[in-house]
Parts: sequence; C-alpha cells; structure tokens
Amino acid sequence: MDLDKILEFAFQFHGHRCVLMPLGVRMGALALKELSVEKAEDRDPVALMELSDGQAGGCLIDGVQVVTGCTFGKGNIKKLQYGKLALTLVSKEKKQGVRISVRPEVMMEIKSSQFSQLRAQGTPYSQIPKETADAIIEPILAKKDEELFKVEHLKEYHLEEEPLLYRGIRCSQCGEIVAENRARLVEGKPYCIPCSGYIE
Ligand SMILES: [Zn+2]
Ligand SMILES: [Zn+2]
Repeated sequence: MDLDKILEFAFQFHGHRCVLMPLGVRMGALALKELSVEKAEDRDPVALMELSDGQAGGCLIDGVQVVTGCTFGKGNIKKLQYGKLALTLVSKEKKQGVRISVRPEVMMEIKSSQFSQLRAQGTPYSQIPKETADAIIEPILAKKDEELFKVEHLKEYHLEEEPLLYRGIRCSQCGEIVAENRARLVEGKPYCIPCSGYIE
C-alpha cells in the first residue's frame, strides 16, 4: 500500500489540509492490516465509525473512506453516534472485527497545536496557513501505529446482511421514481415523501 499516494489523493478528495483526515487514513490502513483484508471493492468490509453528527473530528471519516473503500455511497460505512474517535472494521466474510481508537495523548497533542487554537477561534480550515497545518500533521504522521492507536481484536463479529432494495415506483404527483419502501400511500395511491406531505 503506497500510503503517500493515498494521502495525496485523500487531501484532494477532502478539500482542505487538516490533521484528522490523514489520521483517518492511518487508522483505516491499520484496520485493514490488522484484519488481514483488502480495501472494499463491494460492500465487505464494513466500517462502523463511533463519531456523531455535528461532532468536530468528522474529517477522520473521510480518511477512513478513502483507504478502506467503505463509503457512504456503497453503504458499507455507518456512524454509531457515540461521539468517539474510533472505528470498528468488520469483515462479513470472516465474521471478525477490529476496533481501532485514537489514543487520548494524541488528541491532547493535536488540541494543543496552533492549528487547533486557530480552529477554536473560528478560523476556517482553508484559511489556516499550510505551514501551521503541517506543523501538526507531520509530527502526528511520523508516529508509529502503536503510538497513535489502541487496537482491539473482536474474534467473533456477526453483521446481518442488509439486502439492497432495487424496486422503484412512480410518484402519483411528480412522476419521479421513489424506492418502494419509502413511498407513502395516500388514498390508495403512491407518493414520494415530499409530495405526500408526510412528516417523519
Ligand atoms: Zn478536515
Ligand atoms: Zn413526488
């Protein structure tokens, strides 16, 4: 695995230069290695991220997506909403998993950086000088995996297979196709959610 090349692509994909995204690349690469699986071409392995919506640190997820091939598009990555910087990578084929969490000392080091101080003052990531970003990215990436992460092997981990739904149906109002299980029936006719007036 050419990690430098992956990082270069990952920065392009991600859009700005931060420290948690490359940490996610390292996290995902370690998870693949520990589980002895390849990057997902299809929907196995599955990445279970413990982060929550709206939590600072979501950048980590983009790094994990790029390196593991577990993507929101394919549906083999999920957010568990625990508010923690950890990943469990599960192999459906092997029925095993590995949990990788960022060591607290690493987060303290990141938090005390000038980069994080600028962020805390509200400076957008893209407005932080490259040197300031690299001043924390480089020492973090120079660390060994065992300095960055705690690793726990989960000898048995069974994930239920979730079949993909292919059936679509036409909305009686806008005429657009809607997945059958998301259509709403109003007086016996199918509608998409926006046309049905249905509020979840
Ligand atoms: Zn970022
Ligand atoms: Zn409609």
